[in-house]
Amino acid sequence: MLSVFDLFKIGIGPSSSHTVGPMRAARRFADLLQARDLLPMTTRVCIELFGSLAATGQGHGTDGAVLLGLEGAAPESVDPQTIRPRCAQIQAEQRLRLAGGHAIEFIARRDLLFQRRHSLPHHPNGMRFTASAADGNALALEQYYSVGGGFVVSEAEAGQGAGPSESTAAVPYPFASAADLLAHAERSGLTLAALALANETARAPEQDVRRRLLEIWQVMHACIARGMVAEGHLPGSLHIPRRARQLAATLARAGADPLATLDRVNLWAIAVGEENASGGRVVTAPTNGAAGIIPAVLKHYVAGVPGADDDGIVRFLLVAASIGMLYVRNASVSGAEVGCQGEVGAACSMAAGGLAEVLGGSPRQVENAAEIAMEHNLGLTCDPVAGLVQVPCIERNAMAAVKAINAARMALAGDGTHFVSLDKVIRVMRDTGADMKSKYKETARGGLAVNVIEC
Ligand code: SF4
Repeated sequence: MLSVFDLFKIGIGPSSSHTVGPMRAARRFADLLQARDLLPMTTRVCIELFGSLAATGQGHGTDGAVLLGLEGAAPESVDPQTIRPRCAQIQAEQRLRLAGGHAIEFIARRDLLFQRRHSLPHHPNGMRFTASAADGNALALEQYYSVGGGFVVSEAEAGQGAGPSESTAAVPYPFASAADLLAHAERSGLTLAALALANETARAPEQDVRRRLLEIWQVMHACIARGMVAEGHLPGSLHIPRRARQLAATLARAGADPLATLDRVNLWAIAVGEENASGGRVVTAPTNGAAGIIPAVLKHYVAGVPGADDDGIVRFLLVAASIGMLYVRNASVSGAEVGCQGEVGAACSMAAGGLAEVLGGSPRQVENAAEIAMEHNLGLTCDPVAGLVQVPCIERNAMAAVKAINAARMALAGDGTHFVSLDKVIRVMRDTGADMKSKYKETARGGLAVNVIEC
């Protein structure tokens, strides 16, 4: 069973699969060299990026992520402001400090290879790290896959069919499907939030779980706040001006508008999307490309629902994470594997379920909300222009946040009875992703990515 803290991870932008995952993989390789006492003999490390990582890695900051990961940086603790300067320094000095200490020569054109024409067998986001001694002999070779949401699996784990499992404690309400969750709820009389909390408290004291979830919310909220005041342009070749600050100013001047709620939700989602695109501190939820949706919908709850409180924030996140676990387990949250339906679609579904829960929805209404939200994201392709997590990603977060609120309201208007189950729609999403041509799966070779001219 995954934990809520596997779904919501504090990290850095712009991409969970192309930035957070590769940094974690690189650090894992450096730790492995250290654990095997190979660091003193290592004189060179060659990094090869395959498939989608090679196709869009430069726009997603994969190159800087792997270099800092080899130096021992972790996404949750690295200062986002230091990544680019340190990366430039490594390249200029041609020196890299493996695991934070052992210095080796690093020549980017020789040691960081984008294998655009090749893929590794188990996932489009493959990486190979090779450490060599002075005589050229390989000391260690490892392949990793960044399978979405910042999760990483090794070649051996992928070969055994192991999914991204990071928590091993036994829980009182294990589930593999939404049907399992509903059955637990029916038998126990508990809400979905209470079930999820019981699972989490099998691993940690309740007060710690609540404290950490409120910290997650604080990081989300701080991200919204930073995004609303930041000025300038987004990084990369598109030279897109940031617009959240302007949207906030316009909203502040606007009079009474019955649809101002939509404008606010749009603003909050865009603020996070722009922070993410700028490589800032964000919460992966369940990915970085889709990181604006859950904060925007949760802020809508906090700012707009009478009686909203910390307990509601905790319940929202617990339920959203439970739904996210179903996507990780039974489909994918990787744009490179199933397209944007797995990123923005899954986040929309998670947010809809979380909101339905805190608005008083029954377990069946919550499941219905999550299902509606995904049903109307099916087929969504991943075609980021210039390989940057900007167009269509940032606006798409705003559209999905509004859709999540609508899905929750539609579900709450019914009694929970509905035609398509969440489990079925997750299966359909997985199968649709499998049928999707690779040019629509985070390769920047189809859709908007090839039909919008870069200026
Ligand atoms: S289009 Fe969607 S899946 Fe692709 S990078 Fe953007 S947010 Fe992620």
